[in-house]
Amino acid sequence: MASENLNELIESALVVDDSALQRQHTVALLQELGVELIYEAGNGNEALDLLALLKLPPGLAVIDLEMPGMDGIELIQQLQQKSVNIPLIVASSREASLLLSVETMIHALGMPVIGALQKPLNQDQLRSALRAFKPSRNDARQNSDPQPSMCEADLGSAIGGGQLLPYYQPKIDVQTGILKGVEALARWIHPERGLIPPDHFIPLAERCGLIHELTVSMMDQAMAQAAVWHSRGLNIKVAVNLSPLSLEQPDFMHRILELVDRHALPAEHVVLEITESSVVAHKGNSLGMLARLRLKGFGLSIDDYGTGFSSMQQLARIPFTELKIDRSFVHGAHERKNLRVILQSALDMAQRLELVTVAEGVETMEDWRLLQDFGCSLGQGYLIAKPMPANELPLWLKGHHRRLGELRPLPRDGAPAGNAQNGAA
Ligand code: C2E
Ligand code: CA
Ligand code: CA
Repeated sequence: MASENLNELIESALVVDDSALQRQHTVALLQELGVELIYEAGNGNEALDLLALLKLPPGLAVIDLEMPGMDGIELIQQLQQKSVNIPLIVASSREASLLLSVETMIHALGMPVIGALQKPLNQDQLRSALRAFKPSRNDARQNSDPQPSMCEADLGSAIGGGQLLPYYQPKIDVQTGILKGVEALARWIHPERGLIPPDHFIPLAERCGLIHELTVSMMDQAMAQAAVWHSRGLNIKVAVNLSPLSLEQPDFMHRILELVDRHALPAEHVVLEITESSVVAHKGNSLGMLARLRLKGFGLSIDDYGTGFSSMQQLARIPFTELKIDRSFVHGAHERKNLRVILQSALDMAQRLELVTVAEGVETMEDWRLLQDFGCSLGQGYLIAKPMPANELPLWLKGHHRRLGELRPLPRDGAPAGNAQNGAA
């Protein structure tokens, strides 16, 4: 869904709004985006009746918040109770904080949420919300995935057969622009279907018991690569994503220690990223595993911070070294006060806890400058680089060095200052 070809992927939509005029406006916008089949409902009950009749749920629903009778929030709660997991857009002309809290509520219900948008809706707003949308693990629409269904056997042999590769996305020092680390992100290079993104196979791996093998394979490759970079003088950290299930795997610790040993890589150079919601949800054994990993020297990063419901007090009890703020609080924060306040307070607290702070989803120079102002440690996002295969990193690094001046903080008098470079890749 986070693709450029929105029209190919979203074939149908449901628009729920009590105002016929607003409904027509939304329908027209969706048609311009290429959505062919659009259902309309004037209130929550009509929407539920309609959905009960449909064989396939629509690809998305745009729901007005304020409607007589059943309001948008109640409708969303009903959808959740009926396990109708349609990606949702809520629309309202009310204040931004109200929209944000509804968005957070939908996340908390475990429903896929594309965005909470201010009315009157426009094309740019819809388009960028759809682009940014990342279907979550428990999105039931995986079943109606546009990819033909991939089975366990395919994925199992892909892992064994070397079709699963890490792509690397740079993590950059926000003050100097220097490359400090990379995050390894899994890609399935399928012989017929080409590149398959992780959202299409990680949930499958988790369901069919292959996630442990996948994680170990990613770690093995990422550590081997880090060892090569180190031998060439590029001393960067490598981060690998962990599934919460890995933390419950009794031999996980043994496997990962074996790997750092084999690649002669100090554990301090490896960062393990774990999502905020998964650590809070799987407390018991995972906490023990995290503590042991930390004792061995691995860096531990809280991923997607801000999308879960953990308090800083809860997180402070876990031996984390890094906080990664979810991209929904980073990109565009310079023009949205609510995001900015959340971003700044998360950074403040993390700094007080002496955690390394990482902002994800840095897409524009405005995002970058705000992070400099707020004193964030590292930034990651399309402004700097998209995830890339290991062999493309040296060339990217060359180009990046030429951009360092532009990325450095603007001194008060206007001219960028200082000069620092990474070693060769
Ligand atoms: P994540 O860990 O939050 O990774 C960041 C995702 O944001 C990546 O998507 C990355 O390509 C994307 N991204 C980076 N910069 C930007 C930006 O500026 N704008 C936008 N809109 N997006 C940006 P990707 O590679 O598709 O990975 C999706 C998710 O799949 C990851 O989210 C992670 O949760 C999971 N994943 C990826 N590799 C692995 C893995 O090896 N193991 C496990 N368990 N999960 C993985
Ligand atoms: Ca991550
Ligand atoms: Ca993340």
